[in-house]
Amino acid sequence: MIPNANNHLLHSIDHGDNSPFDGPDGILAHAFQPGPRLGGDTHFDDAETFTKNSQQYNLFLVAAHEFGHALGLHHSTDQGALMYPTYPSTDPDNFRLPQDDIDAIQSLYGKEELGKTSNPIQPTGPTTPSKCDPNLVFNAVTTLRGELFFFLNRFVFRKHPRGGESDLLFIQELWPTLPSDIDSAYENPITGEILVFKGKNYWTLDGFDVSQGPRSITELGFPRNVKKIDAAVHVETLGKTYFFVNNKYYSYDEDKQAMDKGFPKFIAKDFPGMRPNIDAAFYYKGLIYFFQETVQYEYSIESKRIKQVLRSNSWLGC
Ligand SMILES: [Zn+2]
Ligand SMILES: [Zn+2]
Repeated sequence: MIPNANNHLLHSIDHGDNSPFDGPDGILAHAFQPGPRLGGDTHFDDAETFTKNSQQYNLFLVAAHEFGHALGLHHSTDQGALMYPTYPSTDPDNFRLPQDDIDAIQSLYGKEELGKTSNPIQPTGPTTPSKCDPNLVFNAVTTLRGELFFFLNRFVFRKHPRGGESDLLFIQELWPTLPSDIDSAYENPITGEILVFKGKNYWTLDGFDVSQGPRSITELGFPRNVKKIDAAVHVETLGKTYFFVNNKYYSYDEDKQAMDKGFPKFIAKDFPGMRPNIDAAFYYKGLIYFFQETVQYEYSIESKRIKQVLRSNSWLGC
């Protein structure tokens, strides 16, 4: 390899290893499998903009992937894995090595023997959700311009309600400035805006742009003791948005842009059959779909009763 005059790791297009780079984008870096000479060496394309934040391309995420190759790892077919072949648009600040990569590196180098070290616990990492897993527990669900979005830790399943495949994406692939692990989300079809909530903050989406945020939920009229909103759903026919917090719910009037008086009220009283701590909810054709752990309740607003109990992943086209 021919070192670049400025930095021995950064290389120009043709850099003497018969693997030229391609200018901006495309190939970001490459590494050689372990072995003599170039073995284990890692080269970064000097034409890329590498960053320390979630803008493309985060140097930590690129380098970690390449060092995986340098240690002998091949590409993975697990979409959430560090060793998946495409750049992972995921929040680098909260990155934890996925289980697929832990399994891969341990298959080459072995596991720590339990009991022989001061750390008696095997490392575990996050796994990539599968749409066919009947035990999926969603953080939030919302409609968005005729499609459904199911949020789960750093991922989102995107699905058209009528047929078709569901796509699994990183949240930050669609909205780079949104955090992972959001609590709730809803669409206001009149304004076309989506509100996304995490803790005491919310963000406003205009389709696939984050137009505002983070802002404080107290601006919407929540009292200061509300620490997080479990679920949010806009009911078109009533012009109301319901926010579920533990065993109670708030009603927000979208026309008046104000909380309705007399709230919060008990969920059990006004939504018969529903238990506290709802995970997610969305509205579709006169029905509210409530998600609670691995179960989904199809709730009729008109008759005030649960019509059907479904698995949480029933929409994902499994
Ligand atoms: Zn090279
Ligand atoms: Zn690679």
